Amino acid sequence: MNTKNTKLKFDEMKVIELKKYCKENGIKCISGLKKQDIINKIKCAIEEEELISKISEIEISEKSEKNDFYTNNLCLKKIRSNPKVTNEDRIPDAWKELKKNWGYKCCVRPKGHVGYCKTNFKDMFIVNDFTKKFVNSTHTAIYLTPGNDDFVFKNRASRLYPNFLTSEQERKIKTKEKKPCAIPKKDASTPYDIACAYIDWITFMINVYGFEKHIDKDVYETSGIRDLLEKSKQNLINFYKNRQIFDRDGKSICVITKKRIDLNDIAEAGRDNRVRIKNTDIQLGHNIPRSDEYITITGCNLLPMSRRGNFILGENTFTDDIWIDELRNIVCNCL
Ligand SMILES: [Zn+2]
Repeated sequence: MNTKNTKLKFDEMKVIELKKYCKENGIKCISGLKKQDIINKIKCAIEEEELISKISEIEISEKSEKNDFYTNNLCLKKIRSNPKVTNEDRIPDAWKELKKNWGYKCCVRPKGHVGYCKTNFKDMFIVNDFTKKFVNSTHTAIYLTPGNDDFVFKNRASRLYPNFLTSEQERKIKTKEKKPCAIPKKDASTPYDIACAYIDWITFMINVYGFEKHIDKDVYETSGIRDLLEKSKQNLINFYKNRQIFDRDGKSICVITKKRIDLNDIAEAGRDNRVRIKNTDIQLGHNIPRSDEYITITGCNLLPMSRRGNFILGENTFTDDIWIDELRNIVCNCL
């Protein structure tokens, strides 16, 4: 986009047209601004957008070699998103090279979709107590880091938070004072990886037995989402060739215990699953375990695991046989 031409065009536009442009392009906080200030705000947004697209084009082209399902089938357009940074002075300068200010999330809708770009499929679900809880817990699990104590690591922050530290770095600067300034590196992700992770997770969830009654068929069938999620299911089956990840009827299971997942295991109205826990509660399981060395909130790495199943897998890799051999030995020694 040429900023010079864009400026001329905006100068000729009426304030109401400028406001409409801002709304359509996710440019916020313009109420009460004069015409020239709105134009300046748009200019800044366009320049920022150009910078972001240069960075992400390189990143996406690198990733697409790994698994082209996501780049071929998801919109992935950038949606402005900037987590608020706090207590940055607490991080030693030498560690600040880790900082990564993404400034956006990727759209998860099907490539070529109509309507606004979005980071979720919220509109695909019929609104009721179950789906409200489900939409909320999905957002928390995929887009936010797990709960933390707020001393150094923020409690439930965006996985795209600019500053992230290893556990060792956290220990070095931890004091008795609560001054949250970063997220754990092992929970951090990128806009592209998080979009891929979201699609995988939704694919597993809508294949839970009984889920169909909560889906708005009109949106599901006409928006291209059905087609996308069917392809996504096949992509996962192809990836996990040596493991069963759906049962014979194509329904979702705890991939460790192989027990079919019940709707109450993913969201139960009236039960807080952090307080009243069940062994069958479904958690965000990983194929390769969380680590400071690589990104684990990404495509083809999240799997539904029951609390019990996740515990059994421990810090092992799901597709490796170590944990199965271990279980086999335990059983053999008991007989
Ligand atoms: Zn889009």
